[in-house]
Amino acid sequence: MATIEVGILGATGMVGQQFIALLAQHPWFKVTWLGASERSAGKVFRDAAAWRLPALLSDDVANLKVEEAAQSAGRAPKLVFSGLDSSVAGEIEGAFAQAGHVIVSNSRNYRMEADVPLLIPEVNADHLALLNKQDARGWKGRIVTNPNCVVVVYAMALAPLRQFGLKTSILTSLQAISGAGYPGVPSWDILGNVIPFIGGGEEDKIETETNKILGALNGGIVENHPVTVSASVNRVPVQNGHTASIAVALEQRPDAGAIIAAWNGFRGKPQEHDLPSAPTQPIVYLTESNRPQPALDANRDGGMTVSVGRLRRCPVLDYKFVALGHNTIRGAAGAAILNAELMHREGLL
Ligand code: NAP
Repeated sequence: MATIEVGILGATGMVGQQFIALLAQHPWFKVTWLGASERSAGKVFRDAAAWRLPALLSDDVANLKVEEAAQSAGRAPKLVFSGLDSSVAGEIEGAFAQAGHVIVSNSRNYRMEADVPLLIPEVNADHLALLNKQDARGWKGRIVTNPNCVVVVYAMALAPLRQFGLKTSILTSLQAISGAGYPGVPSWDILGNVIPFIGGGEEDKIETETNKILGALNGGIVENHPVTVSASVNRVPVQNGHTASIAVALEQRPDAGAIIAAWNGFRGKPQEHDLPSAPTQPIVYLTESNRPQPALDANRDGGMTVSVGRLRRCPVLDYKFVALGHNTIRGAAGAAILNAELMHREGLL
């Protein structure tokens, strides 16, 4: 298969660097273009940003010149991944789509638009049909988004429970500092501490994006899933991996074994197509009573697996459990790469 050249918007950031790391050995995609702010533009990547990941940075990418994202629509490869700050992503991604690029974005700006897929390939691959509606914007290109980093973990854990009549859910998150970008939360604020607030409408995103992702495509429109969600978010001194304590009310009363079987047996298009970034088993139930833990479980299957555990009866709703996923891989760059792999396999690039 011929290599597909790709660009990265926001290449210098936390998510941008994760894109570079994950694409280093990719069998289909090769990074040939980088974009960021005017602060980084004109420098080669190694001078524009300190490399912050344990993976080795290749000379090929280290020596690429960073372009100014806001001036580059039409001058990058057709396929562009975006980890742009949301303060600028709306305008820049829109200009790129207008100019004919396919933008596979992490930013929140277009996620809730009716004609933009908010995609988790295992859960709602059919929502890609929304792309046809983007012609009406006059775009020559397309925008596809992946969810907020907590929502990826949450929606994946809830998706197999829809068959039991998912009614209500309460989530309390414990979110890693890498989720705040770089340099993120000051060490003075986070070391030895918990911050019970995350800005940028984090709770609102969890309470709305989840319904769109779990919704059904009907007549070319996504009908939101009716589950009512209540979210409380916390920043904790963990480097990578968002953990969530979740309770659910279900119309049917499945026994715990049926829920665990639904999680462990859950598969989707990425597994069917054997996509390069697809985890073999997207959701893994851990039987140990003290798992999942970010330090032990966030990197499972390249950081693309969601780990769940501690399923037990809830005296208020029906069941409660813990879910965990790697926030910059399954919750960001890895999610977007899987989206692009699915699009390529379905002839949409
Ligand atoms: P980050 O580390 O702060 O990086 C932000 C990126 O945006 C940098 O490359 C920065 O370039 C660029 N940027 C900032 N202002 C710009 C401008 N005026 N013009 C062009 N580029 C500009 O943030 P992050 O954590 O990687 O997050 C990136 C996006 O992904 C955000 O929208 C975030 O909400 C979303 N996201 C993050 C995570 C996560 O776990 N971190 C998960 C899911 C989604 P310079 O270096 O040149 O300033």
